[in-house]
Amino acid sequence: MNHAAVAHSLTIRDLTPGKGYERLVEAKDDKTGLHALVSIHSLKRGPAAGGCRMFNYAKIEDAIYDVERLSKGMTYKNAAAELPLGGGKSVIIGNPKTLKTPELMRAFGAFIEYLAGDYYTAEDVGVSTQDMAYISETTSYVAGLDGGEFASGDPSPVTARGVFLCLKQTLKRGLGSDDLTDKTIAIQGLGHVGMSLAGMLHDAGAKLIVSDINDDAVRIAQADFGATVVSPDEILHQQADVFAPCAMGGALTADAIDVLKARYVVGAANNQLADDTCGQRLQDKGILYAPDYIVNGGGIVNVAMEILKISDPSYRESRISGLATTLEQVFERAAETGQPPHMVADELIGTRLR
Ligand code: NAD
Repeated sequence: MNHAAVAHSLTIRDLTPGKGYERLVEAKDDKTGLHALVSIHSLKRGPAAGGCRMFNYAKIEDAIYDVERLSKGMTYKNAAAELPLGGGKSVIIGNPKTLKTPELMRAFGAFIEYLAGDYYTAEDVGVSTQDMAYISETTSYVAGLDGGEFASGDPSPVTARGVFLCLKQTLKRGLGSDDLTDKTIAIQGLGHVGMSLAGMLHDAGAKLIVSDINDDAVRIAQADFGATVVSPDEILHQQADVFAPCAMGGALTADAIDVLKARYVVGAANNQLADDTCGQRLQDKGILYAPDYIVNGGGIVNVAMEILKISDPSYRESRISGLATTLEQVFERAAETGQPPHMVADELIGTRLR
């Protein structure tokens, strides 16, 4: 094990990474209570990039499992968006409501600095743009900032645009036309991405059925977009053309797929398939599934522009429309081979990594 102490009285050591991973590094800081992990899955396409999650993991093994799983996911998401970035992720172990302080975030920044640019961090669950500002005081390998020359700000509208283009691509594949006039889209979750997507779909002439556990959000969609509101339990049962999961991961369970009436699934949520069998189950039911990490790549495109210091908006637009092109390649190959799209996506993106 390689031990090193750096600024902020950090103790940093390399742990043994999972098979196929580049690196797993742990940092501890007695002064601030920081206990963090960085997983670097791949550096093949460039420096690793992926957000930092703060969560009160019950044990270190749970944190390692999560950070490695998420870091591998970032390798695929970054490659799907054709970004010159590898895959990485970090976790801070602890309850963000009680443990988080500016000093802890600065100590985390010193940890990221120690990795000397092999990994760039940004926001994820439990971590805010304000936290990124503290982190940026001790490292330059950080994105998702609110201020600064290349600051990328809230990625959600860009994510929504990518989902919108992929949704149109999916309809084109299935129906031969991407015209949204009078198509019905059932949106689960009207948060940052879901609400923005709802606006784009409404402007394009689609009819909306929406659900959210937040009553204010559904009221806005009803008033602004004429959306039909249903309860969270009813959204899967709706007679819609497309189901757009834009809430939490794992929405596509076996039970959910059994009741789903839509013929297409295209949404922003991460890790939509509850397990590997669910992609096949969708296919068996004749439902065309647009793999999540291709569809929701707009957010990382936004972050990447900050990391790569690119201000030309045409870069963003070309990468976002590229998501729909990649999706079409997946559908094409899935049709040729008879494999479900989520498996084809992993194979296709895997070739970009080799
Ligand atoms: P958000 O927290 O702003 O919105 C999530 C919404 O889902 C909230 O309004 C919440 O009330 C609602 N919700 C929660 N449980 C629900 C349920 N059971 N039924 C209906 N609604 C429910 O999050 P977001 O930033 O809009 O992201 C949405 C999803 O997309 C997440 O899975 C996120 O990981 C993923 N994603 C987001 C981005 C981005 O740029 N924000 C990028 C890639 C992926």
